[in-house]
Amino acid sequence: MTRSYVIKPELGKTYPYISHGKGIYLYDQEGKRYIDGCGGAVTASIGHGVEEVAEAMYAQAQKVSFAYRSHFSSDAVEALGAKLAEWAPGSLNWTFFVSSGSEATETAQKIAIQYWQEKGRPTKNRIISRWMSYHGITMGALSMSGHVLRRKRFVPLLEDYPTISPPYPYRRPEGMSLSEYGLQCANELEAAILRVGADQVAAFIAEPVIGASGGAVVPPDGYFQRIREICDKYEVLFIADEVMTGVGRTGKTFGMDHWGVVPDLMTLGKGMSAGYTPMAATIVTDEIIETITQGSGLIMAGHTYSANPQSAAVSLAVLQYVEKHQLIEKSAEQGAYLLQRLEALAEELPLIGEARGLGMLCGLEFVRDKATKEAFPLSAGVASKVIAKSFEKGLIIYPAIGGLDGVAGDAIIVAPPLTITKSEIDELIAILREAILAVQ
Ligand code: PLP
Repeated sequence: MTRSYVIKPELGKTYPYISHGKGIYLYDQEGKRYIDGCGGAVTASIGHGVEEVAEAMYAQAQKVSFAYRSHFSSDAVEALGAKLAEWAPGSLNWTFFVSSGSEATETAQKIAIQYWQEKGRPTKNRIISRWMSYHGITMGALSMSGHVLRRKRFVPLLEDYPTISPPYPYRRPEGMSLSEYGLQCANELEAAILRVGADQVAAFIAEPVIGASGGAVVPPDGYFQRIREICDKYEVLFIADEVMTGVGRTGKTFGMDHWGVVPDLMTLGKGMSAGYTPMAATIVTDEIIETITQGSGLIMAGHTYSANPQSAAVSLAVLQYVEKHQLIEKSAEQGAYLLQRLEALAEELPLIGEARGLGMLCGLEFVRDKATKEAFPLSAGVASKVIAKSFEKGLIIYPAIGGLDGVAGDAIIVAPPLTITKSEIDELIAILREAILAVQ
């Protein structure tokens, strides 16, 4: 192998070279096969090597790949915008296209702040978010992210936004019912708004199901309904960060659909293009666009690759594939089976505190003591060891590490392509079980 000049996630580590992928499988150049048990970064949701997408990619490239959004619109981008308006609930009809989840949440942050400026209320410029959350790695997105490990080095550069507790049912106070607990967590938002002053708060942002910082933590029913009420009462915009949960990952089109809650802004990424191209989106309501149109008429955001025809055509082909193959319904159905299998593992293996999830977004949390739920310190690296062992055995699993150091730092995400079959799930579980047994 020739010397590498590429900065890799872990410097000094040697990575296998990818050769190709088909369905839920990836193959490296040595011929080793891996089950993509997490779609890379909960991204490859329609599986690898889908011909229809490759064809759409080629067809668009033959016409035109790039035309700048300040100069042109395109059939591809308009069709994708129309498809998202059709899928999104309520009056979430307007899409701002970007290329990554971080750009999508940061654009949502900017649009929320700009909205209040255009309404003549410029002091409403703070965002409330939650601990144990992840909204992206760029500074604006990271400033809203309650992910201890990822924030740590950059704290002096991050906006000091008010942060509240997430609902974390596994670690709720003993004896408290799920619904009481959900309301208690939601009411923290009201307390934070009152503390900061509603005239200072632009928006509240949350992931429907906590992903990278918690490991598929599902809120109690009633939580988001109460969040919506509070946002309405204090005129605070609600941003649903659906970068991980959107486009069928949780068994419904969007994560928020589980609770019938319509946000004011919604972000998408990952499954929106299923890894076939960098593509993400910030979707906003008629009211937001009407306000800005009547005001300055210009949204102060955007990137060079925003709304490029090439990525739009690919993303559209992915959404059409999801529809054609009923992958949202499959996600619900097969996801229930996956969770059942993970729950059985949790019963069997002492290292697993909880198996949880919604649709095809599932997780396992590792604990030192199952009875007391005592967490491992981050330094124990149990999730990392399970991930490394799984990889060795041909299974790729995603980390949810360091969200709340020492409280909930040790979880994994199991989120295979929505196309996975029951027998493939059995194969995945068998390898995962062996990997955990090798670590415990
Ligand atoms: N928001 C959520 C909920 C995410 O899970 C992620 C990535 O994991 C992001 C935002 C950031 O997306 P990206 O890595 O594409 O910038």
